[in-house]
Amino acid sequence: MEPLSDQDDWEFCEAAGLIFCVPAARALDERSRLLQFAPDYQPWHLEGVINHEHLAAQTNREDLRGSVREAEVLAAALRRAFPERRFVIVNRLGGEVLSFYQAIPGAPTVDPEPVEPQPERAHCPTCDRRQAFQLHPQPDPEFPELEWADCAVCGQETWLWSRSRFTTI
Ligand SMILES: [Zn+2]
Repeated sequence: MEPLSDQDDWEFCEAAGLIFCVPAARALDERSRLLQFAPDYQPWHLEGVINHEHLAAQTNREDLRGSVREAEVLAAALRRAFPERRFVIVNRLGGEVLSFYQAIPGAPTVDPEPVEPQPERAHCPTCDRRQAFQLHPQPDPEFPELEWADCAVCGQETWLWSRSRFTTI
């Protein structure tokens, strides 16, 4: 799939009470397939899985800001198309995936994933090998969803793991 551009080229449709950003026939096919394997999937699971767009790789802060802008473009497009509805936008920061679902009762509005354990070593893009990392002592003010650290050898800043940014609109 092509990465999204900064342009607002979102198109939505409604089918089976769900809102999708892919053509209705394809969305309903995927919905049937998902419900076969996971019959207890809720509307937000179905919308969240089917409505996923791949973003360009995010390897530094500027890339992450780009993904935040993409999420804002999506939010504006949803507000314009469905001014009477509410949505949760899920931006998998650093994971290059953007998705959304309707914010109906029961739909999660915060990341339900548990915090991952800290790896002792991680790949340093500058050293181009696994190195020990020194965790930043405070949550990052701009991207607190990511665990920031500096390479103990070269000082390169990177993140060891990321969580999703959930935005309810
Ligand atoms: Zn390094």
